Amino acid sequence: GRFREYNTQAPKETQVTQLFSLKHKTAIVSGSGAGIGLQVVHAFAEAGANVAIWYHGNKEALDRAAEIEKKYGVKCKAYQTDVTDYENVKQVINDITEEFNGRLDIFVANAGIPWTDGGMIDGPLSSYHKVVATDLDSVFYSAKAAGEIFRHQYETGVSLTGAALQNYSYGSFIATASMSGHIANIPQLQSAYNAAKAGVRHLCQSLAVEWVKFARANSVSPGYIATEISNFVPPETKAIWRSKIPMGREGEAHELKGAYLYLASDASSYTTGTDILVDGGYCAV
Ligand code: NDP
Repeated sequence: GRFREYNTQAPKETQVTQLFSLKHKTAIVSGSGAGIGLQVVHAFAEAGANVAIWYHGNKEALDRAAEIEKKYGVKCKAYQTDVTDYENVKQVINDITEEFNGRLDIFVANAGIPWTDGGMIDGPLSSYHKVVATDLDSVFYSAKAAGEIFRHQYETGVSLTGAALQNYSYGSFIATASMSGHIANIPQLQSAYNAAKAGVRHLCQSLAVEWVKFARANSVSPGYIATEISNFVPPETKAIWRSKIPMGREGEAHELKGAYLYLASDASSYTTGTDILVDGGYCAV
């Protein structure tokens, strides 16, 4: 199949609608019961992909999956996973690929938590470990488990269950980093989060090289997006953030759809090892 030579041969030029289509593809998105992840699932399902939602505590994810199946006519199931537990991640990825005909095309490592514990000097070390485990280790674990499947598909030309890989191009691994991995954002108490997110960017950049034969790897760095994750931030601080955004407003989670769809689809066939900032111009100043 053409995917075997994908790293040395350009794909055929196709129509734009085809370029962004995810028909027949299987995607997993972690941290997708709500917020940015849920919008990514909507985008992928609308583009034709079968999608697995990963949630941790938010059981509403099960209802969201049923709604998405109905709305877009694709397969969508929700799975409870702890992304900080490698054995759990590997088990769930394997369960899903079996349920989805042994196939995996796209993995989005999006789960994450903020740093809420008072900065480096006053905050407990346990918080540092938790943030790094959830925001960085988790991306490494997901990449390790998903990468093994991408490599298998490249080497054998079939899915884990031996099924034909219709419309297969290449694996696409995408992680959610942050503009905080580019700059030290205020409030200035986020060193652990910022370091973890900078690590996520560089991990993807490194994977792009390590995996070049069988998968692409990129990250998306959202700016200030209105979701649950920043609920702990006091309104005064949010007002300062807002005043520093050139576009003058926070982003909505659905405004991230295009960046993830681009990186997941064949539209980005020559894009690997990069990061897309979606921040209303915050880092441009
Ligand atoms: P949400 O809080 O809605 O999403 C975070 C998700 O991570 C939740 O769905 C949560 O699952 C999941 N999660 C947390 N811990 C674990 C765990 N141990 N195992 C599995 N899942 C876990 O906020 P966002 O949508 O904003 O966040 C998505 C990503 O975007 C995060 O990585 C965040 O750092 C990043 N980001 C967000 C920005 C923003 O301004 N909103 C800015 C820059 C980056 P559950 O709810 O089921 O427990």
